[in-house]
Amino acid sequence: MNRKRHIETSCVQAGWNPKNGEPRVLPIYQSTTFKYDTSEEMGKLFDLEKEGYFYTRLQNPTNDCVAAKIAELEGGVAAMLTSSGQAASFYSVFNICEAGDHFVTTSQIYGGTYNLFGVTMKKLGIDSTFVDENSDEEEISAAFRPNTKALFAETISNPTLAVLDIEKFARIAHEHGVPLIVDNTFATPINCRPFEFGADIVIHSTTKYMDGHATSVGGAIVDSGNFDWEKYGDKYKGLTEPDPSYHGLAYTRAFGKKAYITKATAQLMRDLGSIPSPHNAFLLNLGLETLHLRMLRHCENAQKVAEYLKGNPKVAWINYSGLPYDRYHALAQKQFDGGRSCGVVTFGLKGGRDVSIKFMDNLKLCVIATHVADCRTCVLHPASHTHRQLTDEQLLEAGIQPDLIRFSVGIENAEDIIADIDQALKA
Ligand SMILES: *Cc1c(COP(=O)(O)O)cnc(C)c1O
Repeated sequence: MNRKRHIETSCVQAGWNPKNGEPRVLPIYQSTTFKYDTSEEMGKLFDLEKEGYFYTRLQNPTNDCVAAKIAELEGGVAAMLTSSGQAASFYSVFNICEAGDHFVTTSQIYGGTYNLFGVTMKKLGIDSTFVDENSDEEEISAAFRPNTKALFAETISNPTLAVLDIEKFARIAHEHGVPLIVDNTFATPINCRPFEFGADIVIHSTTKYMDGHATSVGGAIVDSGNFDWEKYGDKYKGLTEPDPSYHGLAYTRAFGKKAYITKATAQLMRDLGSIPSPHNAFLLNLGLETLHLRMLRHCENAQKVAEYLKGNPKVAWINYSGLPYDRYHALAQKQFDGGRSCGVVTFGLKGGRDVSIKFMDNLKLCVIATHVADCRTCVLHPASHTHRQLTDEQLLEAGIQPDLIRFSVGIENAEDIIADIDQALKA
């Protein structure tokens, strides 16, 4: 644990530490380039003899400050920002996998990640096996091969709200000598820090709660610094052996615990360029300053909405780990601060798909939006929207019930949200 102060203080203060006379608020370095006095100085940056900024595709001071804040929130040693959560998922695996390699992932993951892993990365020659995260350890272990390089999962899955047993997954990953990568988007470090349960790398779609105001698409990757790449050097040659595209330098030897993030920055960001704009990083930082306050309200409101839905006879079923009879309640109590998970509740209505659609059309305060986890309550029906190309059978295979309503509870007054649900159910 690298934490020295409470997480609320880190939300507000971490990252930007102004010197005497400098702006109190993180400045937006909206500049692609950085000026040097002599050609020799600039040369030293390229030779890695000196540290400094030269081009924003590689690094930018605003972005770096926000990444440092997220690293502190997660209790990691280093972090980087990406232009989207998708870029973060891709980089997190691609940083340690190449053509001919394989990784294991749970099937309970975000639809975009499912497609990235199951289709697009396969085209690059990187194979993956999907496992049910609730299978027993032997069954999950059976998916590993000699060329397996990582295990990937989500703390709380979007949209099925399965809660990951992080300790179990860390144990399986480490028994096979690979890192556990966890997408912690829905829980946020306010509710859960996966490193405390043995995860090695954490990624985020910062588009969701971290930004919190639905202004900027973005992502982040954080390294715990705990995985011993050199112990499994044959597997992670990209980190442990000289990189010909980077001055013949071996990342683990040159950068120690920061090897993984340095490689992702110096190699992947350099070559693929999915950097966020400094302005978006600035907006993300504003969001992070109130993350601790908003998450409490999101969870408090979601708990009230879940309890209301549970008691309504028109509701067929509901998933929310804050409910005592939820299948993930005990795990949520163990892994999440105060048992708080996130502000998203999923449920189905009696009468199925058509009734669900009608209910959503009758909502007034809670709007239909292809978004989740921001301050305004919003709602989505995956079968009609994000997953509309799938048949009911295919939906069930993906773990999504055709009548599933993904209800993202915002930070408005809970009574107003419930009143809107109530009128829409009656209509
Ligand atoms: C939205 C989301 C992503 C993808 O992030 P983008 O910022 O939309 O690219 C990845 N994982 C989870 C859990 C998400 O909710």
